[in-house]
Amino acid sequence: MQFTIPHYYHSFRCIADRCSDTCCAGWAIMIDDQSIKKYRAQTDALGEKLLNGVDWKKGCFKQKSGRCAFLNEANLCDIYSDAGPSMLCKTCRQYPRHTEEYEDVREFSLSMSCEEAARLILGLKEPVRFLTKEDDREETYPEFDFFLFSKLMDIREEVISLFTEPKQGHPLKSVYGFGSGP
Ligand code: SF4
Repeated sequence: MQFTIPHYYHSFRCIADRCSDTCCAGWAIMIDDQSIKKYRAQTDALGEKLLNGVDWKKGCFKQKSGRCAFLNEANLCDIYSDAGPSMLCKTCRQYPRHTEEYEDVREFSLSMSCEEAARLILGLKEPVRFLTKEDDREETYPEFDFFLFSKLMDIREEVISLFTEPKQGHPLKSVYGFGSGP
């Protein structure tokens, strides 16, 4: 299996209550099965809050005025504050980290719908580099079209090179002002 991350991937840090937006409002956050089990088993004060703040039928957090029921007035998460990051569900633990899955390939990225991820990506002074590593795991997707996949990878590489390797006379140079020469 091959794993790929952009070089800035591990620099991301959520800015929590300093975020002018917050990803904990405006949508129903679905809870993975493992976290649901953990939340059901919680018997302390947090368990009481979870009992009322989770929509057990739909498997998501309830909302109050469009905000997650656990997002407090200081724009901090009560689950995180009370019990730490290990009590967060998978969605909250991962966002804005995103994974694309192909046969024997995992590509990790940061979603620009998060303002801090966008600030990190758009503020880069250097061209993006992709770091890969491999292990011995193998998998097969019956519907995987290797031919189409290779063609799409070739096209993507070409598109990325247009932005990361600007050259004299490059078609994008005149449009975006790339390059240092006249
Ligand atoms: S949108 Fe990004 S920076 Fe803001 S709270 Fe969510 S993860 Fe943190």
